[in-house]
Amino acid sequence: MQDTPLETRMPSSDGQSVSLDTTPSQPSYTVLTVAPDATDAECMAASGTDLSLYRWVDDRPRFEAIETRQNRGLARPIVKTFTSRWAGRVPNPVMLTHIVTTRCNYSCGFCSFADTLNSVSDELSLEEIEKTYATLGDMVNVIVYSGGETTVNRQLPEIIEAAYRLTPVKSVYVISNAWKPDLLFEITHRLMQTCPELHLTWSLSIEGPREINNRARYTKKNGWDAWQNTIDTMWGLKRMRQLFGYNQLDVQLCTVCTPDNAHCLPDWYDMVRDVLQPDKWNLNLMRRSVQMSDHAMASWTDRRQKQQLEPFEQMYFDLTEQVRQDVLAGRLKFLYHTEHPMDGALKSAVDLMSQEENRTVLQGDPPQIPCRAGTSGAYIGSNGAVSGCEEFANHPTDNKTYGMLRDFGYDFQAIWHGQKAAQYRQKSGCASECYGCTLESQKNYPSVLVSFKQLVRAASMAPSIG
Ligand code: SF4
Repeated sequence: MQDTPLETRMPSSDGQSVSLDTTPSQPSYTVLTVAPDATDAECMAASGTDLSLYRWVDDRPRFEAIETRQNRGLARPIVKTFTSRWAGRVPNPVMLTHIVTTRCNYSCGFCSFADTLNSVSDELSLEEIEKTYATLGDMVNVIVYSGGETTVNRQLPEIIEAAYRLTPVKSVYVISNAWKPDLLFEITHRLMQTCPELHLTWSLSIEGPREINNRARYTKKNGWDAWQNTIDTMWGLKRMRQLFGYNQLDVQLCTVCTPDNAHCLPDWYDMVRDVLQPDKWNLNLMRRSVQMSDHAMASWTDRRQKQQLEPFEQMYFDLTEQVRQDVLAGRLKFLYHTEHPMDGALKSAVDLMSQEENRTVLQGDPPQIPCRAGTSGAYIGSNGAVSGCEEFANHPTDNKTYGMLRDFGYDFQAIWHGQKAAQYRQKSGCASECYGCTLESQKNYPSVLVSFKQLVRAASMAPSIG
């Protein structure tokens, strides 16, 4: 593997702006630092957060709990998946990625939907989603809500409550750019009370230090501080967990590693670990399908054939390896808050394994975790397209949608066990778009969740995560 060094950075100095020996198109950025024994209040102050600006951090509106009799344990879906396989039947999905909107108030170049953002508006209504959820089957354990900006769909809390009522979902991840902190706080109060058995993780998108993030997170409003909104939201959610005993609430910061921010990521990682301290930090690799739109670089295939990593790929490789070492050595917070501490450690271990899998793929080596998109993992687009994953559902020339919910009377089962699904399912993991796939929630997680081998690996790693 050819070593491709990044640009030389000037050493950062005591929380001051860092000058970079880079091209003029890469702006300098501010590095935040705190004393090693800094308190939460000091870290929050260093990040410019003033939670008194927000109504819903300390003030709790009241909601009634939804009564359900769902069995939300993971053991049953695992066993049912194996018995289905032995019987030669296609199992119902254990994990779902649901795009609740393709609308967004920002317009970021690295977004998976950058080309179609705001152009698709035939979103499923709440009523349509409820009918769909009623037919999802009795094995869904994890749902990832994504977009677009998820909170632009004003019925997001009702949609999550419908999932809680109608399916055995235990764990929900909501990806958001946190444009409106008070809105996220209000939604959190609601869900933590209406869905008391639910584990809720907010995955907040942020692309690096303030200057880098606000440049990448393009918004039409001058002076809009997207970075501060995200950081305030993170601190607010942590405060709410403490104040109201929301012990199944997590907030993670998610950064996409791209050619535009790779140069600042080592400094960003230090800030995340030492100052911001989210429950978890996720570094995702810019999708292969969107890498080419804005950046002049050789194709993925050419790069792998030459065994050459682009600088941003090398950065992903190095930083995720550092994260793994720091987590296992107790230097980095990386633990979900769950009912049982070992559940949180297991989830964290699965995250580390997913990044390890992506490092394997990045080197052009065969995947170690077989793709189960289309069997254990399902995808529903905002317009009701059902498929195995977003790459299959949104391929511009070779669309592999299993069916549209509106055409099937919202009967997910009819689509999932239909002819087209059987045909396209065969292509999971071996279609042209699968080469170099690093879709964590659609490729890696559904596979790990139903693999004894991988779960045993996660269980052996979990005790080292604290
Ligand atoms: S490898 Fe990736 S692109 Fe291919 S089916 Fe799996 S999730 Fe989809």
